[in-house]
Amino acid sequence: MSSPPSSPRRIAVVGAGLAAVSTCDALRAQGYDGELVLYSAERGLPYDRPPLSKDVLLGKSRRADIMLRPEQWYADQRVQLRAGARVAAIRPHSGGLELADGTVAAADRVVLATGGTPRPLPVPGGDDPAVHLLRTWEDAERLRERLLPGARVIVVGAGLIGAETAAVAVALGCRVTLVDPVPVPLAAAVGGDIAGALHRRHTAEGIEVVTAGVGSVERHPGGLLVRLAGHGDPLAADTLVAGIGIRPATETAETAGLRVGNGVVVHPGQRTSHPNVFAVGDVARPDGHRVRHEHWEAAQRDGEAAALGILGRPVPAAGAPWFWSDRHGSRLEAVGTMADADRTVLRGDPATGAFTAFGLRGDHLIAAATIDRARDIKAARRIIDRGVPLSPTDLTDEHTDLRTLLNR
Ligand SMILES: Cc1cc2nc3c(=O)[nH]c(=O)nc-3n(C[C@H](O)[C@H](O)[C@H](O)COP(=O)(O)OP(=O)(O)OC[C@H]3O[C@@H](n4cnc5c(N)ncnc54)[C@H](O)[C@@H]3O)c2cc1C
Repeated sequence: MSSPPSSPRRIAVVGAGLAAVSTCDALRAQGYDGELVLYSAERGLPYDRPPLSKDVLLGKSRRADIMLRPEQWYADQRVQLRAGARVAAIRPHSGGLELADGTVAAADRVVLATGGTPRPLPVPGGDDPAVHLLRTWEDAERLRERLLPGARVIVVGAGLIGAETAAVAVALGCRVTLVDPVPVPLAAAVGGDIAGALHRRHTAEGIEVVTAGVGSVERHPGGLLVRLAGHGDPLAADTLVAGIGIRPATETAETAGLRVGNGVVVHPGQRTSHPNVFAVGDVARPDGHRVRHEHWEAAQRDGEAAALGILGRPVPAAGAPWFWSDRHGSRLEAVGTMADADRTVLRGDPATGAFTAFGLRGDHLIAAATIDRARDIKAARRIIDRGVPLSPTDLTDEHTDLRTLLNR
């Protein structure tokens, strides 16, 4: 299999999250007619993850509500779902893969869609059973059982998943402490103004916010004692949730000798360093980018790009990355790379709680983040993707309809 056949006949997709399902969907939509096998380490039908830290924890959604596709879709699209089948190794040179149970299977293209696993809390006691991580349906189910009214819950990490979990826990009547060593978490992703407003909102909603790192977790008859680095008395808790990021699941890529570094390195069309292997979603890092885009829409788009890459078709340039997050009844949305902006301007009144921050570089908009002003982000995405030159007042003046800037 050293020179790839021009037309693949058997494609194996490793992992069955959004990026994997999106790849299968796009391959069929592009007319791929060959065999398509989806290997999932998890049991059951593939499901969506964002609801896990929202409606699932709130008890409003059951597993059947969050399926990525109905069961019939797999039959209709001729996607062979192998649930509970972990892939132990891929062998791109010989055209096959090996499952954890020793079974071998043939594939002339492999798509790595293995996502990531939550970072465990790296302190003594961080592996206590009362320390929860949140990535899978089972994680969410276990945690939901602990979020009872009056329960003392410590959430470590005030990024996206930690903040959402803290918000759900306080809404359920838990006594919540949110611990993060960074005074204004998320500032790099959404800018200091939006990040500051989001973080202050936790306190307003009754969460105790502590700026510190965790030193250790100890089990006591009454629950957990959590010692914070450089911070007075330990905190008592019934449950601790660690939301401190994920590690990309790159093991199969590494053993296959692919280029890996903070994810599987990919080129346009989601091509890896091996011509027959592609990588999509949270596990993939575009070459030349420092960070992976660990967001829902990026996983969806990667699947579409991989299908084109596998079939040797032109791949349109990716637009600016976008994500959302829900907490305390508000929606955060962000587009572009705020960390690359050389200045930020605001639209709307922060005192109302709903406003937008725009990040500019020279006379171009390169990023925007909003609390509860989705229309601003919709317009910003188009302005960023089209590279329209503008001035800060175009953005800050509420009398200017942002959509008109696209006509310049
Ligand atoms: C709790 C939570 C809330 C989120 N909320 C938001 C949000 O509000 N907004 C947003 O934009 N994004 C959100 N995200 C991020 C978004 O869900 C992810 O970016 C997206 O799910 C990534 O999809 P993926 O297919 O790359 O990876 P995953 O969904 O992680 O899927 C990977 C799958 O591969 C399987 N796998 C791994 N290794 C193997 C192997 N060797 N063999 C077989 N199978 C394997 C795994 O078990 C897993 O099922 C959230 C994520 C989580 C966890």
